[in-house]
Amino acid sequence: MKLLTSLLVFLFGLFGINLSALPIKESSSVISRTEYSGKVYHIFFHSLILYPELAFQSDTAEGYNDWMTTRAEFKKILQKLYENDFILVDIDEVRAAKLANKPLVLPEGKKPLILSVDDVNYYDYMRGDGFADRLVADKNGRIAAAVITPSGDTVIDYEGDVMPIVDNFVEKHADFSLDGAKGIVAVTGFQGVFGYRITTLKDNALTEAQNEAEQVASALKKSGWKIACHSYSHTRDFRDGSITLARLALDTEKWIEKIAPVTGTTNIYISPFGISFSGKDERLAYLVFKGYNIFCPVSKTMNVMLYGRCLISERLNFDGFTMQKYPQRITSAFFPLDGILDKNRPSFYEERRSTLLNQKTALVERYSEDMTILAIRPKPV
Ligand SMILES: [Zn+2]
Repeated sequence: MKLLTSLLVFLFGLFGINLSALPIKESSSVISRTEYSGKVYHIFFHSLILYPELAFQSDTAEGYNDWMTTRAEFKKILQKLYENDFILVDIDEVRAAKLANKPLVLPEGKKPLILSVDDVNYYDYMRGDGFADRLVADKNGRIAAAVITPSGDTVIDYEGDVMPIVDNFVEKHADFSLDGAKGIVAVTGFQGVFGYRITTLKDNALTEAQNEAEQVASALKKSGWKIACHSYSHTRDFRDGSITLARLALDTEKWIEKIAPVTGTTNIYISPFGISFSGKDERLAYLVFKGYNIFCPVSKTMNVMLYGRCLISERLNFDGFTMQKYPQRITSAFFPLDGILDKNRPSFYEERRSTLLNQKTALVERYSEDMTILAIRPKPV
């Protein structure tokens, strides 16, 4: 080996090449970047189930089983994404590249992943069901979740939702994030934001909640997260597509008036129930007019395209529904799901599976009566 190295040094020397000037790939922490023109992936989650034993025994168990992911599952998914060479990218960078008609530039071998989290509001209906109560920013500006444990204690949990878990993960694995990108936190407004009921509280309680929510927003942004509008009301009119331009305008104005002062304005709109608008739809034109130049519906194809100057970034729901019912949507694009599903998931799902396959919308119709917040189920193929 020594002989071979000496020989190479000699040969390079003959041609005037200084070996020490050649880029050294493995030993360097700076991995060379290269143009990437393949697929851009976009997945989303809802707030994580921290205590499955509570969630899956609640009245909303079936809904949670479909639309949510547990903390244990999410941590495994994150590790798998990392092992399979995905890297978190900033959606604004994806748009910029698309507009310039240029490929993304990524560390060699990496695949770009956009991550979003919907309904980070900790709605009333979730309380007592094993989710976080609210987000908090600690004195060091670190994001965590205030969680009420099954025994009734309130604790600050640094693994209490997607955002702090990702923050910790990227701290350990810097190469899982391109230039510090994290993901998108999508919020509605009808029950406040991040668990703070800023749209219903009054007086001192309101001021306090506003301050805390502002601190959370600023800590999130400092850490690389972006905040998106997920409508104000999450009204059911989005679900069947019947929302009128006038209603959409009222809803959006309300979010801008009541929520944006706390979260900051945003150019990202994540549609409720995953509704998608065509490039010619006046409702999309309205959103673009209001400054939303990134629109994210739900679709298993995860396509990224431009409608004019608006980036459309379709998202795959990486939740109980897809993992249990359409695992191939995940396995074909990401990795096998072996060992990921939480053992606490109710077995009744399997029993009902065949019925559900034949009743394309029954489940979502039934449960969304109570759970107006949940994302649209992609149409079964
Ligand atoms: Zn939603």
